[in-house]
Amino acid sequence: MPVPKAELHLHIEGTLEPELAFALAARNGVELPYADTDALRHAYRFEDLQSFLNLYYELMAVLRTEADFADLADAYLARAAAQGVRHAEIFFDPQAHTARGVALGTVVEGLWRALGRSEETHGISTQLIMCFLRDESAESALETLRAAEPYLDRIVGVGLDSAEVGHPPAKFREVYEAAAALGLRRVAHAGEEGPPAYITEALDVLGVERVDHGLRCMEDPALVERLVRERVPLTLCPLSNVRLRTVGTLAEHPLPAMLDAGLLCTVNSDDPAYFGGYAGDNFDAVREALGLGEERLRELARNSFVASFLEHDEERRARYLAEVEAYDFR
Ligand SMILES: [Zn+2]
Repeated sequence: MPVPKAELHLHIEGTLEPELAFALAARNGVELPYADTDALRHAYRFEDLQSFLNLYYELMAVLRTEADFADLADAYLARAAAQGVRHAEIFFDPQAHTARGVALGTVVEGLWRALGRSEETHGISTQLIMCFLRDESAESALETLRAAEPYLDRIVGVGLDSAEVGHPPAKFREVYEAAAALGLRRVAHAGEEGPPAYITEALDVLGVERVDHGLRCMEDPALVERLVRERVPLTLCPLSNVRLRTVGTLAEHPLPAMLDAGLLCTVNSDDPAYFGGYAGDNFDAVREALGLGEERLRELARNSFVASFLEHDEERRARYLAEVEAYDFR
C-alpha cells in the first residue's frame, strides 16, 4: 500500500480519462472529434499550455448532468484511493460549466453525490474548493460567488486558476474579501508561470492560506524566508510542471532545494488524466528522479495533512499523521 497522503491540488475536470469521456459523450449524444479512446489518448500528449487548455475545455462538453459529475468524481476517488490518498481537497471550475449552459447547482450537487459518501465508498474524506478562472473578469468571479451562496455548506473555500500571466491576484481583491466575509478558506495558484511578486500579492491582497504551485518563489530569497517563517504551504505538482514545461525535466525540479530551504511543500497531481499520473505516481516519480529518501517522502506525506483544511476535525488529522509516522517505506 502506498504512503497515506492528502491531495490538495487536484482539478476534478482534469481527471477525465478518455474511456469516461467517450462513455459520457455516448450517454449525452455529444460528438467527439476523435475516432476512439486511443486517438483521444494520443491527443493527451499535447506540447504546451495552450494545446492542453484547448483539449481540456473541448472535453468538458461531455459533462452535462449531475450523474456525469458524480461519475467523474467517483472515478477520481477510486484511482486516488488505490494510490494512498486518504483526504482530498478538490478544485472545480464553475465558470467553465455555467458558460456552456450547465447550472452551478448541477455541478455542485453532482459532485456531492460522490463526495458526500466518499468515506464509505472509497475511504477518502473530501472537501470542495471553488476556483475562479483568472482569465475571466473580476465581475464574473463575483457573480459566481453570489450564485454559489445556496451551496456554501458544501464548499470549504475558493481558489484561482487558469492562465496566470497578465492576470495578477489583485484583480480579484473584492471577490476574495467577499469570500472571507462568508467564512470561506482562501487559496490561489501563484508563481507557476507568473513572477514571485504574484505570490506576495496573493498573500497580502487576497489573504491566501496556501499557495498553489508557488514554484517561482525560489527566485526571491526574501520571499522564501517569509514563506518558511509563516509556514505557508505550497502545493507542488511535479509531473504537471514537466508536461507544461515549467521545468525542463523532473531531475531538474527544485523540490529538494525547496525542502532544504525549509518550505512546507506538498506533492499533488493537478490534472492527472492529462499530466501522466495521480498523487501516488507523482510521489513515485520524484522519489526516482530526485532520489528522495525515506525521511523526505515521510515529510511530504506529513506536510500534506499539516496543510489540509482539517481544523474542524483535528482528531482526524492526528489519526492521518499517526498513519504517516507508522508507515514502513521498505
Ligand atoms: Zn492547478
